[in-house]
Amino acid sequence: MAATDIARQVGEGCRTVPLAGHVGFDSLPDQLVNKSVSQGFCFNILCVGETGLGKSTLMDTLFNTKFEGEPATHTQPGVQLRSNTYDLQESNVGLKLTIVSTVGFGDQINKEDSYKPIVEFIDAQFEAYLQEELKIRRVLHAYHDSRIHACLYFIAPTGHSLKSLDLVTMKKLDSKVNIIPIIAKSDAISKSELTKFKIKITSELVSNGVQIYQFPTDDESVAEINGTMNAHLPFAVIGSTEELKIGNKMMKARQYPWGTVQVENEAHCDFVKLREMLIRVNMEDLREQTHSRHYELYRRCKLEEMGFQDTDPDSKPFSLQETYEAKRNEFLGELQKKEEEMRQMFVQRVKEKEAELKEAEKELHEKFDRLKKLHQDEKKKLEDKKKSLDDEVNAFKQRKTAAELLQSQGSQAGGSQTLKRDKEKKN
Ligand code: GDP
Repeated sequence: MAATDIARQVGEGCRTVPLAGHVGFDSLPDQLVNKSVSQGFCFNILCVGETGLGKSTLMDTLFNTKFEGEPATHTQPGVQLRSNTYDLQESNVGLKLTIVSTVGFGDQINKEDSYKPIVEFIDAQFEAYLQEELKIRRVLHAYHDSRIHACLYFIAPTGHSLKSLDLVTMKKLDSKVNIIPIIAKSDAISKSELTKFKIKITSELVSNGVQIYQFPTDDESVAEINGTMNAHLPFAVIGSTEELKIGNKMMKARQYPWGTVQVENEAHCDFVKLREMLIRVNMEDLREQTHSRHYELYRRCKLEEMGFQDTDPDSKPFSLQETYEAKRNEFLGELQKKEEEMRQMFVQRVKEKEAELKEAEKELHEKFDRLKKLHQDEKKKLEDKKKSLDDEVNAFKQRKTAAELLQSQGSQAGGSQTLKRDKEKKN
């Protein structure tokens, strides 16, 4: 398309003007590509599924390499998330790939809370990005974006229906991440069973309102292939890093006593479809959707929770500054209210204490008066007793004196009579 053809009207007040010659802004897409290539890309995949469903093997198969990692045991007390980041290079394009895998998922007797660590992990990555965005000095271009771009949900090849753990987990995750459901180890299920199983899974997802990621059909160049692939979901995959000689070609396959299953053979499984959709056609859309849909929702809820709004109650635009000031005033008002409440409470408590003290003082006074009166009564009683004793003592003394007087008179009279008798004896 010529540069002169590109100029077009954008909104009101913008006129279309022809260009007289080549200006050069038609190189903008190339500039963008060059810049992106020099910065490199990042892509984060979350693999959710029971232990042993082939998550690690599938990642190795998808990226044609051997990622390190210890196989998980079935004895985990709870669900954990294991995250590893790798630098990959293909031609001149660098990819920082993070693979997050659930460890211990589906291994507990009580699976009620199995989805929680996954939801918390996804939210934590959104929160980290939001914090970076809200910083005064932010370095988003150098920031390692750890938000999950695609969640591969591994469904066990039971041939029956989805387990309630799968439905609950997918339902909890569908507003936070792009879910691509896949039937793992699909070599364990026959072709006719697989067709029925896919239909069953799709209808269960629909009836439970689980929103899975739909490959976009709005871009003409990929609309057809994406539309067709949407009808193939969930993809039935097989993983293997083992290369076997089939015909005269080395191919990734799984060898069994009765034959060979080829990973990249579309008659055998949907591995190629998955790789095509996840990596070769829609990687950028997955990144885009993560930012514009899932992160946007998290950000909106978080900011609303913090009290930020775009419009005031009269639907008039509300700037960040106004929101901040309104929030600050609200906070100060609340603080003042709290202070006033505390002051009132303090005054009330002081009054109560004062009344209590007064009551105690009054009781003390009454007690003192009672004791004083008791003491006075006691004293009076003792004084009366003392007086009566003194009277008794005086009376006794008087009686004693009288008795002594009587006794002495008596003895004088007795003495003169004895003398008279002695004289008469001598004569
Ligand atoms: P993870 O615990 O989910 O990471 O599972 P692994 O990738 O460690 O795989 C567990 C076992 O399943 C290994 O022995 C793999 O060789 C095997 N496996 C992996 N993918 C497939 C598959 O597509 N079909 C079959 N039949 N076995 C597989």
